[in-house]
Order: sequence, then C-alpha cells, then structure tokens
Amino acid sequence: MFELPIDVDEIKGFLDAAEGSALQRAFRAGAALGPGLEIGAYCGKSAVWLGAVAKGLGTTLFSVDHHRGSEENQPGWEYHDPDLWDHSVGAMDTLPHLRRTLRQAGLEDHVIPVVAKSAALASLWRTPLGFLFIDGGHTMEAALGDYRGWTPHLAPGGVLAIHDVFPDPADGGRPPFEIYQRALASDLFCEVEAVKSLRVLRKQ
Ligand code: SAH
Ligand code: MG
Repeated sequence: MFELPIDVDEIKGFLDAAEGSALQRAFRAGAALGPGLEIGAYCGKSAVWLGAVAKGLGTTLFSVDHHRGSEENQPGWEYHDPDLWDHSVGAMDTLPHLRRTLRQAGLEDHVIPVVAKSAALASLWRTPLGFLFIDGGHTMEAALGDYRGWTPHLAPGGVLAIHDVFPDPADGGRPPFEIYQRALASDLFCEVEAVKSLRVLRKQ
C-alpha cells in the first residue's frame, strides 16, 4: 500500500478504500512497462490513490476527463451534484476540483490531467501504457469506445482495471460489465483480481 497524502474520504466520488488499494496493486503490477492512464478523473479520488503509486515508483499517471460529467451527473439525474455546476457557462466543471485535489495532495508532479474526450485522445495517443483504468462514461458507446480505443495502447503484460462492473443488472448499468466480458472472451486478457465493482485483468 502506498501511503495516501490526504484523506480521500474528503474527495467527492464513488470509489471505496478496498477498490482504491486494489487499484494501487494493479498500477504497481504494470508500472515497469509504461506510465498509467485513467479515463474518468471527476474530482480526483482515484487520481490520489494512483498518484501515490506514481510518486512512489517515479512514474506518471495521465488522468483524462472532459470534465463536463457523465450522463448520470447531469441535472435531474441520480448522481448530479449541484456544487459541481459552473453557472457562468451552464455546464458541469470538475476540473477545478481535480486541480485542488492534486495540489492539496502534493501530486502535481506525478499526475498529468488531460482535458479531452476519451475517443479524441485515444486516436492520437502513441505511448505504450503499463496500466489503464477505465472509469469514464457508462453508455454503451462510451464504454465500448474506451475499451476499443485504449486497450490497444496497453503494453503486453500491462494491467487493465475496469470500474462499475455489475454482473447483476439490478446493481447498476451494464456497459462496464459488457466490456469486461468482452475482454475475457477476447483471450487477450486474464483476470487478476475482483474487488467490489472493480475488475483487474492482465493483457497477454
Ligand atoms: N475515477 C473517478 C470517477 C470518474 S466518474 C473517481 O475516482 O472519483 C466518470 C467521469 O468520466 C466523469 O467525470 C465524466 O466527466 C467522465 N467522462 C464521461 N465520458 C467521458 C468521455 N467520453 N471522455 C472523457 N471523460 C468522460
Ligand atoms: Mg466509477
């Protein structure tokens, strides 16, 4: 376990401590093969768990998000937080929260925020990754786009983590589960660990 520089319970988000430690193990397992990258920063909770690993091992985490929120974060939806609304433009904006989190955690030299739509960046990305965390949009288009767009950038032996995998549809939406199933069925990945809604797989 890599020590957390701040109290992560104070950061808005939906990742619990057991999942956070599993993420740390996953990043550590792939870190020798290249930097790490997460899709879905929100206010920086996973970025702190993973940034602590990047700092400890002398590597880098890229944290990608358009910062306008997923579907379920929009007004009227279940996971809307009015504190994250930028009234001046009439849209969600989590970037200031991420930056504050990274500043307070002393992780600005270890986590590189990228403000981008996942698919737009994936098509231009060239650096092989040692670790990839998919925790972005939950529509089928978003989840499948993340899987198809980013897993080719994972180095052989690299580690893939997927959040919000709910085998029982009563527990939550299906797209993250669908891409997890697709990864297993592809024979490119084998499962390493499952903690709550987090799944960790290694690329062959
Ligand atoms: N990992 C975060 C939670 C991420 S929530 C934590 O630990 O707290 C999902 C995030 O994905 C949201 O902030 C949303 O803005 C972002 N997102 C959704 N679709 C996206 C897309 N297509 N490209 C980039 N970011 C996206
Ligand atoms: Mg999530």
